[in-house]
Amino acid sequence: TVSVVLFTSDLRLHDHPPLHAALAAADEVVPLFVLDDAIEDAGFGAPNRRAFLADCLRDLDAGLRDRGGRLVIRSGDVAEEVCRIVSETGAGDVHVAAGVSGYAQRREERLREELGSQGCRLHVHDAVITAVAPGTVTPSGAGRDHFAVFTPYFRRWSDAPQRTPFDAPRTVRVPAGPRSAAPPARAGVAGVSAGLAQGGEAEGRRSFTAWRRHGLGQYEERHDDLAGDATSRLSPHLHFGTLSPTELVHRARTAAGPGAEAFVRQLCWREFHHQVLAARPSASRTDYRSQHDRWRTEQSAADDIAAWREGRTGYPLVDAAMRQLLHEGWMHNRGRLLASSFLVKTLYVDWRVGARHFLDLLVDGDIANNQLNWQWMAGTGTDSRPNRVLNPVLQARRYDPDGTYVRRWVPELAGVDGGAVHEPWKLGAEERARCDYPEPLVGLAEGLARFRDARGLD
Ligand code: FAD
Repeated sequence: TVSVVLFTSDLRLHDHPPLHAALAAADEVVPLFVLDDAIEDAGFGAPNRRAFLADCLRDLDAGLRDRGGRLVIRSGDVAEEVCRIVSETGAGDVHVAAGVSGYAQRREERLREELGSQGCRLHVHDAVITAVAPGTVTPSGAGRDHFAVFTPYFRRWSDAPQRTPFDAPRTVRVPAGPRSAAPPARAGVAGVSAGLAQGGEAEGRRSFTAWRRHGLGQYEERHDDLAGDATSRLSPHLHFGTLSPTELVHRARTAAGPGAEAFVRQLCWREFHHQVLAARPSASRTDYRSQHDRWRTEQSAADDIAAWREGRTGYPLVDAAMRQLLHEGWMHNRGRLLASSFLVKTLYVDWRVGARHFLDLLVDGDIANNQLNWQWMAGTGTDSRPNRVLNPVLQARRYDPDGTYVRRWVPELAGVDGGAVHEPWKLGAEERARCDYPEPLVGLAEGLARFRDARGLD
């Protein structure tokens, strides 16, 4: 018997329930990945993610080859390609991880329908993309319901049963027939950020092991230290599924301690946003809770938006964060909070403009985490303090007190010592002229007044 395993956002061999189930039931398995035209056509194939994906596919293929198998890569319409492989191999079963976004849910429906008409069974596996499947933990106990507030979700999520992670298989037998495209190469992708991290399961596991030894213990105290860069940087691996969230939660809980607890709580934020999106796929585009319609737009705020994108707002910490994004395709969480607050509150630009730019660059760019974190900051989503505005100077004094992070990313200010780097407008005229750094786009008081006026606040 032959089964097909369709890989999507789960590009690993360790702790992979669909592969585990397929290998247990079939003599041969076709590990399949489809470079999906629909994802490219919808503009989600950003260069940084395409390059990271190329690493992941090469690594997955290498891992399968080490076990006697190989990865079959096709491109086109995903349902059509799966059906084609099923007819070519006579497979009776297809295994796939349950998806979360509206697109993934429609993909699953199509597969069910089209495979059904071929007499092939579809097995959809929960708790692959997240440790706890969306819809498992709900306020009312009913499916399709979801939590809109994090803390009660976290409590219930913490108590939810989680399986012990599966080991990677020892051998994978793949039928000889199905042809495959060569795995794409990162070098073939244009427009990639110079400092982009490397993808693939082997790299993900190496990073996690190193971070568990050297970072996890101090995570609670150090996660907001911008210059210390002391978070795990595992987000792209979680996005592409080269690391299993179940395994990370399991291993962190085994390590125990305040650092591990804080890390598990952050992993739960990811799961929280996933369960919101699974229940409300439209939240990727439309305001989740409060509606606001006086946003400045791509047309009405073109110059401000360009300055924000390029890291030229005149607020050093915002600019440092935006330049880190350009250079690495990744940004520290504290930077994301501040850069998004600055765009949606201080500049009062529609959150969708910012979310789009992040998705164009972030290697971990993820519909659930990105859109819902943007909504959280815009005050349209699940945030309990929708009118809070982050002050870039106060944030800088707190999270980059001696200015090291700013000097790292804003070379024009590299000669300014200590915390003075956060308020270049206070430097003497001569030093200021030497820096060649822009004036603030807007005064903070002015930005705040515009925001309060737009929101009808006294
Ligand atoms: P760590 O601090 O080591 O945390 C471990 C893991 O927990 C992360 O890898 C991530 O999977 C998860 N996590 C941590 N914080 C959050 C959070 N607030 N929401 C959801 N998951 C979280 N994260 C993405 O993965 N993709 C995105 O597209 C994305 N866009 C964001 C946009 C904005 C405006 C903001 C404010 C946050 C966004 N985040 C996003 C969340 C967070 O900033 C990143 O997950 C985190 O910075 C990744 O770095 P890390 O792996 O070192 O995180």
